[in-house]
This record gives sequence, structure tokens and C-alpha cells, in this order.
Amino acid sequence: MHNYKMLIDGAQVAGEQGQFDVINPATGVAFAQCPAGSLGQLDQAVDAAQQAFKSWRHSSHPDRCERLLAIAADIEQEADSLARLIVLEQGKPLELAFSEVMGAAAWTRYAAAQEIAVELVEETTQRVELHRKPLGVVASITPWNWPFMIAVWHIMPALRAGNCVISKPSSLTPLSTLRLAQIIARHVPQGVINCVTGEQGFGSAITSHPGIQKIVFTGSTATGQSVMRGAASNLKRLTLELGGNDAAIVLPGTSVEAVAEEIFQAAFLNMGQTCAALKRLYIHESQYQAFADALTHIAARQVVGDGLEAGVTFGPVQNLEQLELVEALVADARANGARVLCGGARLDKPGFFYPPTLVADVTDGHRLVDEEQFGPVLPLIAYRDVGDVLRRANAGDMGLGGSVWGPDTEQAQALASRLESGVAWVNCHAQIQPNTPFGGSKMSGFGVEFGLEGLLEFTGQQLLFVRKRADEQGV
Ligand code: NAD
Repeated sequence: MHNYKMLIDGAQVAGEQGQFDVINPATGVAFAQCPAGSLGQLDQAVDAAQQAFKSWRHSSHPDRCERLLAIAADIEQEADSLARLIVLEQGKPLELAFSEVMGAAAWTRYAAAQEIAVELVEETTQRVELHRKPLGVVASITPWNWPFMIAVWHIMPALRAGNCVISKPSSLTPLSTLRLAQIIARHVPQGVINCVTGEQGFGSAITSHPGIQKIVFTGSTATGQSVMRGAASNLKRLTLELGGNDAAIVLPGTSVEAVAEEIFQAAFLNMGQTCAALKRLYIHESQYQAFADALTHIAARQVVGDGLEAGVTFGPVQNLEQLELVEALVADARANGARVLCGGARLDKPGFFYPPTLVADVTDGHRLVDEEQFGPVLPLIAYRDVGDVLRRANAGDMGLGGSVWGPDTEQAQALASRLESGVAWVNCHAQIQPNTPFGGSKMSGFGVEFGLEGLLEFTGQQLLFVRKRADEQGV
């Protein structure tokens, strides 16, 4: 069984607390060992990052840009083996894992090309400039759904802005991030990137560590709250990308044929384990049956199996705990009179397989609608009144994304703009791209990733206020 290593101060090191198993969700069996780092090793990583920051913060923009481009090239070069590793630890079909890696390379290139300009606020008898400076040591804490991509989303802008990084992947999917750190380390000075892994308690030690200036965290809302508490100790800057329970509203007259496939993919992308997946589908009662039929038809076409097998379009749930949550939500819906149109039971074989599941005759107040399922099940909810459905879509604490689908773009846009969410999509859902800021509202978090706004989250401001001498004033 392959033993992976952490990366601390440019060296590959074993964990002082031994190692732990990494399980392949398609078999339920361990296929690799991951180092269990000690809190002392976390301190070493932070020390190394602090040392490296002294010179890395002064590296030039063209220099950092060139290094990130070289990293992107290496990611692409190793895309096949990285994608296979992602399938083994995460479960998604190989083609999707390959897109994750290639998307990560594209995001890295985008970060490389970004500019951080000095803003001239005023030029009169005084010159006032707004400068952006790196923060210091940034910790990245990532979840298990898109392990490689989300690590890249955190690490690349942090480095581009001149920070040093401690990366802490989910202990369920740590391996592709350890490989990513090794790739990055080829192209940056020792200590600029560090990657540590550990079990229970390791994440919280990071959040309260006094040597870290910022945390970029993607994960559940409950853990995000804990991160915020820990970060208060030294007022760490935070970007919190947390849970979502995105509603989609399908307006009357929408072409079922035109949008059903896209709606299905938005809900079941990565077996539904995507933060901004479509998680509650509100369909006007006039088209409820037509949509239910179309979506059931698409679900039936999915080939469920090991993501490494040819032809598989639908992999396992990543871990047993998540699978059990999905089962509990479906059981609760059934107990409340819901109809399971397809799926609805785990497959009778090893691994964590649960087929795409559509649940009809379910409504607000049921756990499946009110809670984030983060798995391969979609509730179909009928509505009659457009004003009322908006209220229902906005109910609840989450506010990551939401969408409105309809034949009249203006009408759909007007409704979408009233969604209480960080992103509102019209006739699409879960569209994200490197140049558009993405982030949640309400308890889905704060701060954004991507675009200039995302990059600036890895900087602090310094206002430079220069009173000119009389002879410099030109008056
Ligand atoms: P999680 O919160 O359980 O874990 C996320 C990370 O936090 C892991 O690395 C974990 O080891 C670490 N962690 C656990 N306890 C910690 C603590 N006390 N302090 C610091 N770190 C700690 O989330 P998950 O189950 O891995 O991911 C699923 C959740 O992530 C879902 O709610 C999903 O919606 C959310 N998510 C959000 C986005 C987004 O962009 N908004 C993207 C992907 C996933």
C-alpha cells in the first residue's frame, strides 16, 4: 500500500502520529496510507512558512506569475495520474476527475495572469495611494467533494498575492492535495508551500494557531462556525465558503425538453456532492408531472459504478457517514408520504453506492427540503403561486446560490434578483468561472473566491498618504 508524505519546509516527511487509512469509496476498503501529523509538525510548518514569507513577500509579480504558469503546466502534464488518484480517494467518474484537474490548471493560469495594482485615490496637493500587501501565512482547509480543485482555488491566489501557505486537506481525501503540494514545491522557494495532514483536532489547532494570519475554509456551516471561533484568538482574516441548499424555481411555460438535462446535471453533478448544486427543485404544478417524467428518464440512463470503469457516469457517495445521511433524509420523506420515483436504496454491493434518486410529493418542512442533502437525491416540490414560491425559496438560513428557469428571460431575471443568495442564475445553475466572484450570503459564509475580489481577499490594505512639499504641488 502506498505511503504518502506531508510537505514541511520543502521536505517530504512522515507523520509523527503514525498514519491513517484512506478508503476507496467504490470498494469501502483502504487503498493508501496518509501521514498523521503532530501538533509539533504543524508548528514546524508554520515556522517554515513564516521564514519563507520574509523574502517571498518581496518577490515580483512577473516572478510569481511565471512560477504559477510552470505549476499549471506540470498539473496538465500529470493530469492522467492525478485524475486516477482523485477517483480512488473521492469516487467520481474518471472523466469528471480529469475535468477537475484540467479546470484546476486553468484556474492556476488565471491566477497567474491577475494583476494587483496600486490605486491612486487622489493626486492634488497631496498624493493618496491604496496599496495591497500580502497577509503572511495563509491556512487552506478543504473538504472532500472537489479536493484538488478547491485546494487550487485556495492556494493559487494566496501565492499569487505573495503569501505563504499551510494546506490542510480533508482526511477523507488528502492524497491529491499532497501531490499538488509536491508539484507546487518544485516551483517556489522552500517553505512557501506546506501541506499537513492529520485526524481529529488538527483542523482546530490550525484555526487558533497564532502564527497564521488568514484562513480560507471550504466546508460545512457548523465547522465554519468553529473556525470563526478559533480565528478570533488573533483576529485572523477569513473567507468562509460553507454549506448551501440552493433552490431552483421553474416558471410556467418552461420547455421541459430544453432544460431537463441541464437541471439534472446541476442537481447530480459529482453525485450531488457539490456546494452550489441544485438541491431543491420548485416546479409549477402545471408542469410537475412532465418534469418528474423527464428527470426520471435521465436518471435511468445513468450507469452507476466504480469511477475507474469505462462507461460509468455515476460514482459512489464519498463516505459512509454521508451515505447514511442521504438514507435518513429519504426515509424521513417516505415516512411523510413522499413518493420515491427512482433509486431510493443503496446498491447491494461493496462500496458506498446510491443511485440517482428523485423524490416527489415532498414539501417544505420535510428534512429533505429544509436540510442540505449533499448527495444523490433531489426533492421535486410543486408550487402554484410565483410570489409564494419566492418566499419558500428564501426560507432557511442558507444563501449560497439559487436559480430561476423560464421562457421569459426578463421575468426570470426579475425573480432571480430577489433570491437571497450570493449567486443568482437565470436558465442555468452552478455556473462558476475564474473571473466571476463566487461566495455565499446568510449562513453560507462570507467573502468571495475568484475574480479580482477573490484575489484581494488574500491581501491587506495600506493607505499611503503623502503631503507634497510646496515645490512639488505645482501651484
Ligand atoms: P467539513 O466541515 O466536515 O470539513 C471541511 C474541512 O474542515 C475538512 O478538512 C475537515 O478536516 C476540517 N475540519 C473539521 N473540523 C474542523 C475544525 N473544528 N476546525 C477546522 N477544520 C476542521 O465539510 P465536508 O463534509 O468535508 O464538506 C461538505 C460541506 O462543505 C457541505 O456542507 C458543502 O456544502 C460544503 N462545501 C461548500 C463549498 C462552497 O464553496 N461554499 C464548496 C464545497 C463544499
